[in-house]
Amino acid sequence: MAKGSANQTRSVPNKHLHARIAYLHQAATHLALQAPAVTHTDPSNLQQRGLPLLLTAQLQAVSQKAQIRLSHDMKRSICEACSTPLIPGTTSETRIENKSRAEKKPCADVLVIQCRNCHAEKRFPIGAQRQKRKAERRLASVAVDPKGAKKQVSEVEMVGV
Ligand SMILES: [Zn+2]
Repeated sequence: MAKGSANQTRSVPNKHLHARIAYLHQAATHLALQAPAVTHTDPSNLQQRGLPLLLTAQLQAVSQKAQIRLSHDMKRSICEACSTPLIPGTTSETRIENKSRAEKKPCADVLVIQCRNCHAEKRFPIGAQRQKRKAERRLASVAVDPKGAKKQVSEVEMVGV
């Protein structure tokens, strides 16, 4: 049984750093909610300072140093410019933008999250389907075009040699 437990500890390396990142994120979000809401009155300099920004900056430093990828949601909830924890309605504004002509194309919808502290924007396309990975696209082209398939095979042979 001792052997099994040793394998379990090996399966999650840097477990303490994951715990530290989770703790820093929770603390920063909590403190950002406690602070007075950020307003738009003075866009020239940062309005929110102090502990929440420090904690998220530490969080990013820990993840970079240990080469731990932040989760999708956690990464999106931190401003990359000023390290403010982005909380919708409190420290950030969320809107959907569509710059196509007369906003007719649903595939041009972009989710824009703007930091109220430094006015930096994060933009995520939400209407468009994500392009397939290169390997999957190659497989699709092989299935459709037999000439392309021959070419693909010859390319693979060249790589193999
Ligand atoms: Zn910011």
